[in-house]
Amino acid sequence: MTTPIIGLEVHLQLHTEKKLFCSCPSDFAATPNTRVCPICLGLPGTLPILNQGAVILALRAALALGCTINPISSFERKHYFYPDLPKGYQITQQRQPLALGGRVETPVGAVDINRLHLEEDAGKLIHTGGGTLIDFNRSGVALVEIVTAPCLTSGSEAKAFLHSLRQVMLYANISDCKLEEGSLRCDANISLSGGERTEIKNLNSFKAVERALDYEIQRQGKAQAQGEKIIPETLRWDEAQAKTVPMRAKETPGDYLFLQEPDLPPIQIEVELVDRARMSLPELPRLRAARFVLEYGLSQERAKLLTATKEMADCFEQLVATGATSLGAANLLLGEVSRLLNLGGELPSSHQLAELLALQEAGSISVTAAKEVLAQMFAQGESAHSILKKKNLCQISDNAALEKLAEEVLARSPGPTEDYLRGKKKALGFLMGAAMEASQGRANPVVLKEILAQKITAQPKKY
Ligand SMILES: [Zn+2]
Repeated sequence: MTTPIIGLEVHLQLHTEKKLFCSCPSDFAATPNTRVCPICLGLPGTLPILNQGAVILALRAALALGCTINPISSFERKHYFYPDLPKGYQITQQRQPLALGGRVETPVGAVDINRLHLEEDAGKLIHTGGGTLIDFNRSGVALVEIVTAPCLTSGSEAKAFLHSLRQVMLYANISDCKLEEGSLRCDANISLSGGERTEIKNLNSFKAVERALDYEIQRQGKAQAQGEKIIPETLRWDEAQAKTVPMRAKETPGDYLFLQEPDLPPIQIEVELVDRARMSLPELPRLRAARFVLEYGLSQERAKLLTATKEMADCFEQLVATGATSLGAANLLLGEVSRLLNLGGELPSSHQLAELLALQEAGSISVTAAKEVLAQMFAQGESAHSILKKKNLCQISDNAALEKLAEEVLARSPGPTEDYLRGKKKALGFLMGAAMEASQGRANPVVLKEILAQKITAQPKKY
C-alpha cells in the first residue's frame, strides 16, 4: 500500500481580551452579536488597529515551538465570499508569515512545523429549521494558524501531534485550547503518494482527527486499488455515519485573491522583543520532566505524568518546597488526586494539599480518612483541618483509647479470640476488622494491631 501523506493546519484562539483589530471583547460565547463594532463588522470607512498583545502571544507561541521569527511580516486580504465574512475578505499573513520552521516533539517522533501566522477569525453560521442565522461575535477574534509539514502518516500520529502541541501551548499560556469550544480547531490535508489531495475540515475532537484520517486513508486506498480517481475536494467528518462526506470542490490558492492589506503597516520585530518573549516562557514539559528525573529521583514515567499539565507540575514542586517528600507528593498527586481530577474535579491549592500530606506523614490521619478529606476538599474547597474537625476524622493513636477499644472488641468476640489462641492466626484479621469498624476507620491500624495481639495473649486461658 502507498504511504499516506498528512499535513495539519491548526487554528488556536489566542488568550487575548480583545479582538485582533478592534477593542471588542474576545468572549465570543456571549449573547450573539453583542461583541461587535464597525471595525469587526467590516463597515465602510473603518480602519483596523493591530492588537499588540496578540502579536506578543503569537511570538511566544512561535518561540515555544522553536520557530524562526521573521524580522518583518505583513498582512494580506484573502478574498472570498461567504456569509460569515462581512468584509468579503479575511486579514491573514500569506506571503510573509510571523514565523517559519519549528517542531513539536511527540511520543511517536518529531513533527516539523512549516509556518505560524496571525489571522482573524470569521463569524459563525447557526443553521436552524427556519433558516440560517449569523453570529458575528467571533468575527475578528485573534488566531494563530500553525501549519505542519506533510510528514504525518496515520490518524494516531496526527492525534499524538495535537496532544503534544496542545500541551506546549497550555504550558506557554497561549490559548485555552478547548477543541469542543472551538478555541483549537484542526483541518487535515491527506493524500496517498501519487494521488490527489483531499482536505477534512473542522475536526473538533482528538478522536475525530484519528478516525477521520484513518477512514480517509482506507477510502483513498480502496479507490486507488480499483483504479478510481480521487477527486480533490473538501470533506467533513460525519461522526454519526463514521465517514467523510464531501462539502465542496477543493480550493487552491488561486481561488482566492490575495492583496496586500493597505490599512496595516508590516510588523517589525526587534531582537530585544524576541529575547524578552523567550525569557518570559516557562520551562516546557519535556525539559521539566527530564529535570524531575534528575532532581527528584522520579522514574521517567512518573515524571512524565507529573508534568502532563503545568498546574500539576507546579503543585508537585510547591509541595516539595513546603517539606513534603518527593515520594509522598508524587504518590498523592498521581494516586487519589489524579483519580478525582479524572472525574472532573479541579486541583485544590498546593497549600491545602500540603496540609493534608503533613497530617498523613505525621500519622494523624488514616489512609481511609485522607481519601475522605480529599474528596471533600475537591467538592467544597475546604481545608484539611476544618474537614477533619467537622467530620471527626482524626486518627486515634492514643494508647488508652485504643486499649479500651481492643478490650471491648475482645469481650464481644469470644469465638475468634479462642480461635486465635488455638493457633488460628487469621482470627486476628477478623478482630482487627471489627475494631476498625467500631472506630469508624479512625483507629491507627499499626498501633491497634499491636495492642490487640498483646491483649489476646494476656487473656486468662480457659481449660
Ligand atoms: Zn469589534
